[in-house]
Amino acid sequence: MLGKKWVNCYSRNMENCIFCKIIAGEIPCTKVYEDDVSFAFLDINPINLGHTLLIPKDHHENLHEIPENLLSRLMPPLKKLANAIKESVRADGINIGQNNGSAAGQVVYHYHVHIIPRFSGDGLKHWPGKPYLLDEAAEIAEKIKSHLS
Ligand code: AMP
Ligand code: ZN
Repeated sequence: MLGKKWVNCYSRNMENCIFCKIIAGEIPCTKVYEDDVSFAFLDINPINLGHTLLIPKDHHENLHEIPENLLSRLMPPLKKLANAIKESVRADGINIGQNNGSAAGQVVYHYHVHIIPRFSGDGLKHWPGKPYLLDEAAEIAEKIKSHLS
């Protein structure tokens, strides 16, 4: 018997990128915002109603690829959208989420920021944390610092 073969319908390249197709108007979406460099639309599978995705119009896979000047251009609309979403659905809070790489849950390889309205008692749990052991924190901090320069 043949095993099930799972096909990832989300492509990494720009030609077949679902979010590039949305920006080009080739695939429908529920748009909520657009400016010269950014575009925002409702997530098709929302965590809560009003869950929105903010994307740059240019194709970049994720945080590691997107240029800093473009990233900074996304911050004003991000704040504007977070405020508007919070007010429009009367959310108690907002999560900003951004997944980079499949291990981190990235499925669509066109940089995007999740703006997720949250409600007291909506049942979603914070991700679990685990404390550092002995000298671990200092060691990790040194490693990170050595890669910053
Ligand atoms: P991520 O796991 O961070 O890559 O998230 C990808 C998100 O894109 C998911 O929350 C999907 O529900 C959403 N998504 C995928 N296809 C579409 C689409 N055609 N329109 C709107 N949202 C989509
Ligand atoms: Zn794209």
